[in-house]
Order: sequence, then structure tokens, then C-alpha cells
Amino acid sequence: MAKVKRARPSKRFGPRYGARAKKKIDEIERVQRASYKCPSCGAEAVKRVAVGIWQCRKCGYKFASGAFRVV
Ligand SMILES: [Zn+2]
Repeated sequence: MAKVKRARPSKRFGPRYGARAKKKIDEIERVQRASYKCPSCGAEAVKRVAVGIWQCRKCGYKFASGAFRVV
């Protein structure tokens, strides 16, 4: 079976913008797409809806927090 390689999100930029800037955006995008703990029900189901807006996929609780991560 072929080995599955996970592409970095910054691959979409091709050879542009420099390695350091792309490394930073990879980390930020990884953090902003991760699941966080819900302050209401405690489940690891909080996803980012928009800048600073987070919602729990389990109980539906929506709240404001950091732009890229729950603080
Ligand atoms: Zn919840």
C-alpha cells in the first residue's frame, strides 16, 4: 500500500512567500482547526466558527474567545 503523506496546509501557496512565513501559518492553522474543551458540557468538541467565535459540536454552546484558539 502506498504511504499516505499529509500535505502541509501551506502547500497551497506553492513556492511563494518564504519557508518561515509558511511554517508559521501551518502552526496557526493547525491550532485553529483543533478541537477544544467545551466550557459548558466539558466535551472536546469545540470548533472555530469564525474569527473569535467558537461552538461546541455536542451541546451547541457558542461563545467568544481567541481569534485562532480557545483561551
Ligand atoms: Zn458543549
